[in-house]
Amino acid sequence: MLKRILPLAIAAAFTFTSLPLGAQELMSPDPADLILRNGLVYTVDSTNTLTEAVAIRGGKIVFVGSSKDSKRFQGKQTRVIDLKGQFVLPGFNDNHVHFASAAQFLEFNIMRTATQQEFIARVKDVVARLPKGEWILGGYWGAYDQWASGSAGGSRREPFSPDMRAIEVTTKDHPMLIRKFDDSEFAANAPALRAIGIDPADPKLPAKGKLDAETGRRGDGARGNEPAGSRIEGVEFLRDAGGRFNGHMRGRGVMSLFASAIPKQFSRERRVGQTKNALAEIRRYGVTNVSDMSDDEQLDIYRELLKAGELTVRVHFRPGLDRWQEISDRGIKIGSGDDWIRLGALKGHIDGIMGTSTARFFQPYSNAPSNRGRWRPLMVDEKGNFVEGKFLRYMLDADNAGLQISVHAIGDEANNVLLNYLEELNRQNGVRDRRFRLVHAQVIAPDDFKRLGKLGVVAEVQPYHLSDDMRWMEERIGRERSKGAYAFKSIKDSGAILCFGTDWPGTSASEYPINPLLGLYAAVTRQTVSGEPAGGWFPEQRISIEDAIRAYTYNTAYANFEEKSKGSIEVHKVADLVVLTRNLLQASPREILDTKVVYTIVGGKIVYGQ
Ligand SMILES: [Zn+2]
Repeated sequence: MLKRILPLAIAAAFTFTSLPLGAQELMSPDPADLILRNGLVYTVDSTNTLTEAVAIRGGKIVFVGSSKDSKRFQGKQTRVIDLKGQFVLPGFNDNHVHFASAAQFLEFNIMRTATQQEFIARVKDVVARLPKGEWILGGYWGAYDQWASGSAGGSRREPFSPDMRAIEVTTKDHPMLIRKFDDSEFAANAPALRAIGIDPADPKLPAKGKLDAETGRRGDGARGNEPAGSRIEGVEFLRDAGGRFNGHMRGRGVMSLFASAIPKQFSRERRVGQTKNALAEIRRYGVTNVSDMSDDEQLDIYRELLKAGELTVRVHFRPGLDRWQEISDRGIKIGSGDDWIRLGALKGHIDGIMGTSTARFFQPYSNAPSNRGRWRPLMVDEKGNFVEGKFLRYMLDADNAGLQISVHAIGDEANNVLLNYLEELNRQNGVRDRRFRLVHAQVIAPDDFKRLGKLGVVAEVQPYHLSDDMRWMEERIGRERSKGAYAFKSIKDSGAILCFGTDWPGTSASEYPINPLLGLYAAVTRQTVSGEPAGGWFPEQRISIEDAIRAYTYNTAYANFEEKSKGSIEVHKVADLVVLTRNLLQASPREILDTKVVYTIVGGKIVYGQ
């Protein structure tokens, strides 16, 4: 790099670096499309250069340096923005989103809803956006009843339950079936019940339903010689104090009861609408690249929007590991695609999640002595028994086909087993730059940290999980194991590459918003958003804001094999930038949370901000 190297402390004291003149003369003198000037530009290059200005042409960065020198790139058509000291970073690069689920979740959810007024407002909002006849699904109420958002485990709130009568008129043209976060309860409106042949006003509605699975109609007993299984049993219809059915139901049969009435998938039109809505959310938070685990239709929609010039985030798209053969047959290898949509890193799962106590541990959960969590299907046979080498086979084959592998592991045993597999991959397929992505790496056993660095693991972690999961972590795995939970400092110190993202929109038990500032805050404070506990949860695992920003930009680009074109503000890279109201390097934790995005720039185009 032809760049004057300054220690950050000096750079921060108003000394700015700029490219030596010799380097500038080598560049084309063509005028830039856009110049950002008088800012505080934190480049996240190899020396964390702090400078003032960026010039952009044809979607790429053509100059990084002082405001004065940027004038050379100014022509008649150049738009110049005076940043007045605002803070510029490479666009945030989220290592893990489930875009399609997020798009659906954003359309309608009541996960954090605590009052009937909020519920009614949410329902009105979604009804206004959906054509008549479209189903309203999802909901996930109650996830924050027992462990309130922002609490470290102490506070409980009044349980919320949606009042279906309050939205009866609003939803008269929209069948609606919503669920509690843990599927312990469901609620339907009248059009949804009518769609399966139930009259919600029928006073004879049984407390325990016995309904036909095909038509959903209540059996009359005359067809009692049907084979077992064709009838749904154990659906309990709940009643209000006056004995009237209130739309709420319990039981394992509820979803099957409605299965035939609910469309198997959303219409293309609805998905495009959801996508556009979700893209707007992403732009709002300065995210310019996401690593996505959606279905193929989502990929199709991305391509359609890209063609129409409406895609405002770059996508690293990750199909399932079980599809390695098909993906390989299509000629896809690491790096396939372009800077907008790149395909490749396959995603597998080996265990469950903390939210439902299904993450796999060596020792039982502290609050459930018979539970050690579960293995996912690719690890077991049809009966659920662990099959030695089954998952490893997928990894070996996909790796042989030149594909990148990323695997979800949450519990300490899951992470341990995966590291064993990675060693086996090195042994059988040889050591190479495969950037194996250990997805979540949530709880690591003490002896495994050193292996992370030795094996060159990319730890694909989501720091805000820490702020949210703190609600229940110690109750579930105890203090000792919690030392290895979200242990970002130890992961980094091991020599592993730490990269950040969100897991947007979260699980059925937790919402993980797309906002990167929540993640930066969590990584540097190890506190909940309300500042609990004082000093941070295992504060020795806090990392610096510089390291956190790098994890959210350059390191995710590295994880995606894209660090040559993305991840830092350097000449020749794509012009993906975010402008923030505050210098994060000097912000207090509270100020990090209060920081706002001024501009989001993708490929040199301002996609958020004026
Ligand atoms: Zn995920």
